[in-house]
Amino acid sequence: MGTRPSFPARLNNGPAPVASPTRPRPKPPVTAPVSARADFSAMRQRMVRRLAAGGVQSAAVLAAMGTVERDRFIDSALVAQAYEDTSLPIGLNQTISKPNVVARMCELLLGAELAREGKPARVLEIGTGCGYQAAVLSLLAREVYSIERLRGLHEKARENLRPFRLPNVHLLFGDGMAGYAKGAPYAAIIAAAGGEAVPQAWLDQLAVGGRLVAPVAGQGGQQALVVIDRTGQGLRQQLLEAVHFVPLKSGVA
Ligand code: SAH
Repeated sequence: MGTRPSFPARLNNGPAPVASPTRPRPKPPVTAPVSARADFSAMRQRMVRRLAAGGVQSAAVLAAMGTVERDRFIDSALVAQAYEDTSLPIGLNQTISKPNVVARMCELLLGAELAREGKPARVLEIGTGCGYQAAVLSLLAREVYSIERLRGLHEKARENLRPFRLPNVHLLFGDGMAGYAKGAPYAAIIAAAGGEAVPQAWLDQLAVGGRLVAPVAGQGGQQALVVIDRTGQGLRQQLLEAVHFVPLKSGVA
């Protein structure tokens, strides 16, 4: 974690750094070692191409997935797998979601009526985990509220996200089953953990024109992705593909 992350370099609109006229920059060594970061960036671009080939169409989502360094959220022992389409352990029996699931959920969120005019104003994420999806969401929404019930992971996410300096990500420690009323109403709510049903609090905190995307247990306990839109006429629900998320639990630990 020694080097300064390049993300969100393209978001920093400050002046480009200029070499001091009095002290010329040292010349790079002729045989510059290929840095591990550079390798990751090639792997990340390959991941983006796979996501696109797998059906992710949103240019904004593909750009965000191509920007956030997933390798920075993965324990060093597993970092070689950072850009494979797999979920990986992040401690405390939890996992970072697969890239294609993160991309798919983000794309569904951008389908919210409120997102059609531009970036959704406020997004609530339930289940911060290591903070990866919160970082992706920070590029797609104006404000991201992300809540985690395990203190150890809440703190890990804080540490993981610190070098990215994302002023629009608000990490909260608490039971996300109650949502986060202070930030409501939300243009979008995304859950990274699946329960038996969608808690009423989430529906109450969804803005008109807003969309909720969550894994919910169906018949036989098999989870499926559910999309709920709050329209002027009420709630409209769609049941999508089967998914495998960690369980939504109540209380904090
Ligand atoms: N979005 C995460 C995925 C984390 S896995 C990432 O990018 O890594 C899902 C997380 O949901 C776990 O960390 C789990 O502790 C958390 N979780 C489960 N039930 C919760 C609840 N009621 N409130 C908040 N977080 C919860």
